[in-house]
Amino acid sequence: MQEPALEFVFNSLKQIRDENRHHPHASRRTLEHLNRSALGKIDVADSEGLGRSKIDMLASVQSRVAVCTKCSHLASSRTQTVFGVGNPHAEIIFIGEAPGADEDAQGEPFVGRAGQLLTKIIRAMSFAREDVYIANILKCRPDVPAGSFGNRAPTPQEMQTCRPYLLEQIRIIQPKVIVALGAVAVEGLLGTRGTMRELRGRWNSFNGTPLMITYHPAYLLRNQSPSEKRKVWEDMLQVLEKLEKPISEKQRNYFL
Ligand code: URA
Repeated sequence: MQEPALEFVFNSLKQIRDENRHHPHASRRTLEHLNRSALGKIDVADSEGLGRSKIDMLASVQSRVAVCTKCSHLASSRTQTVFGVGNPHAEIIFIGEAPGADEDAQGEPFVGRAGQLLTKIIRAMSFAREDVYIANILKCRPDVPAGSFGNRAPTPQEMQTCRPYLLEQIRIIQPKVIVALGAVAVEGLLGTRGTMRELRGRWNSFNGTPLMITYHPAYLLRNQSPSEKRKVWEDMLQVLEKLEKPISEKQRNYFL
């Protein structure tokens, strides 16, 4: 988005120079701003006009998250916080529930079995994992009693406490589409509770950004029937359509 806009600005300035035979005046600050943005170092669309890049802005939220102790029980049980990963300029953000054991160990969301399936889904959509952004409602792994296996769902209080960080991530990235993976993501984002059967496959709005609800990949690991895979895939086809991406015949026919 940034490059065509810059090209337009430069071409317009050239036109003014050629037609009026004088050099249009720009302040030093404006020139620095344009130069840095031409080098990809700042985001023209920085809503606060501070000229900071999305990378810088995300890094600053990440550094606050890394030392967060708002949920003291999670701060003391976690190995590390799991902030989010991917392209700060992504068109899509996938949002899950909370880090599991693998994510807590590696510091990256969706790297365990469910994550590997999510990565396959992303690739089937003709994206690389690095093209999109992936985050969770909670940045800490929900604590479980020592020696017990599995995960526990985040509590409403934990979700409420962590939510501002996710809102900041979304506000900085400004995706075209948000994908909520599973009921916890829906509750954390929209405050809506319901069965996934009722919720999935529909467009919602999150502060004006289209939000698609689909099953969590962990659900697909438990229910491996082609019909359930097809449902998630149909939801992803809707996302591709919303983004006006080309869809091949092969992609249309997956899991049929
Ligand atoms: N499940 C999630 O919801 N998020 C992760 O990061 C991993 C598994």
